[in-house]
Amino acid sequence: MIKTVQIQTGARTEFIDITGKVQDVVRESKARGGICYLFVPHTTAAITINENADPSVHQDIVMQLNKVIPFDDQYRHIEGNSAAHIKASVIGFSETVFIEAGTLLLGTWQGIYFCEFDGPRSRKLHVKVMASD
Ligand code: ZN
Repeated sequence: MIKTVQIQTGARTEFIDITGKVQDVVRESKARGGICYLFVPHTTAAITINENADPSVHQDIVMQLNKVIPFDDQYRHIEGNSAAHIKASVIGFSETVFIEAGTLLLGTWQGIYFCEFDGPRSRKLHVKVMASD
């Protein structure tokens, strides 16, 4: 079964720590071990894993993405959100995390981030837990 998590974003560009939401899905699945697949079914949002101890890390990631991929340039896409499409493809739409002892096997400083690049919007995240002990 695939669980779809709703995520309401609140800014044009935003990294939201969703580690707790994903852990809730793992807990509900009752899997003790296995694999957790995460997939973002959007073209202007993405998912990544990075430091969750110091919020300035993801602020720095956003700052550099905005420098490398500016909001305005000579883009051809008529909707006007090409920067968001490009950033989403650079970061990526899926992650895989191992499950051990019923818990996401993340590094000490790692968190899972939903990356909004064209918000605010109502977003979805598909989560698939494959239990195997
Ligand atoms: Zn577009």
